[in-house]
Amino acid sequence: MRDVHYAIGGRQIFAGLDLIVRRGRITAIMGPSGGGKTTLLKLITGQITPDRGSVQVFGQDVATLGRRDLYALRQRLGLLFQNGALLTDMDVFDNVAFPVREHSDLPETLIRKLVLTKLQAVGLRGAAHLAPAELSGGMARRVALARAIVMDPEVLMYDEPFVGLDPISLGVILRLIKQMNSALGITSIVVSHDVQELATIADESYLLLDGRVAAAGTPEQLRTSAATICSRACGGSARWLCSCCSCSPRACRRSHARTCC
Ligand code: ADP
Ligand code: MG
Repeated sequence: MRDVHYAIGGRQIFAGLDLIVRRGRITAIMGPSGGGKTTLLKLITGQITPDRGSVQVFGQDVATLGRRDLYALRQRLGLLFQNGALLTDMDVFDNVAFPVREHSDLPETLIRKLVLTKLQAVGLRGAAHLAPAELSGGMARRVALARAIVMDPEVLMYDEPFVGLDPISLGVILRLIKQMNSALGITSIVVSHDVQELATIADESYLLLDGRVAAAGTPEQLRTSAATICSRACGGSARWLCSCCSCSPRACRRSHARTCC
């Protein structure tokens, strides 16, 4: 992404965003809620186009692509939606099979093999015939992950994959993201307001603030600069800033007023 500007509803979401995602790595994109993280993913998939600047994916400028090329591009991208978003009237198997049935004419025997392999990869082969309502939050997220990888995407984007998970499920998802990245050679983009969790798996991290990259680097480098940014700009609205500067939420609430925590 180069010098990306994007405004919606009279609000400037991005104002000169520069960002590179390297092949085969895990790139973390962090920032406060409402900071434009989901919007950034929409720019990558071409659902929206920047007002200024360019978004290049696999060397192609997304804004210049026609319908067919955009469709082809999206086939190479997998997206794990915020909150999983499983189809409630289908069982686990059919949820994972859904993209394959939509995008290919594979025979049922092959679909079955494919779906069960992906369910196995997330440790849920035995849950194929459960309904989404029968799954725990962590299981649902893993099914959504199986669905996101069923078409073998080259890039996998995770939108807030940790929200609402208990610590154990969260650990499982973290491990799976890492595994998908190394075992399948997938390029991963993980978007989250949760700095702590991401720092443990990311190769490179970006911190978005006010429509720009406020800091970038390894999680360690980011931690240091985020602390500086926090102490400088912590009049803002970002609860997550408290976990990247080392102040406790309570102390932070006292020193930066409610807006911060
Ligand atoms: P994040 O994912 O970081 O929480 P989003 O990318 O969802 O943030 O949203 C960024 C900002 O853009 C928010 O203030 C949100 O209200 C606004 N926004 C997103 N989509 C729309 C839309 N379709 N119409 C108007 N405002 C929008
Ligand atoms: Mg979002």
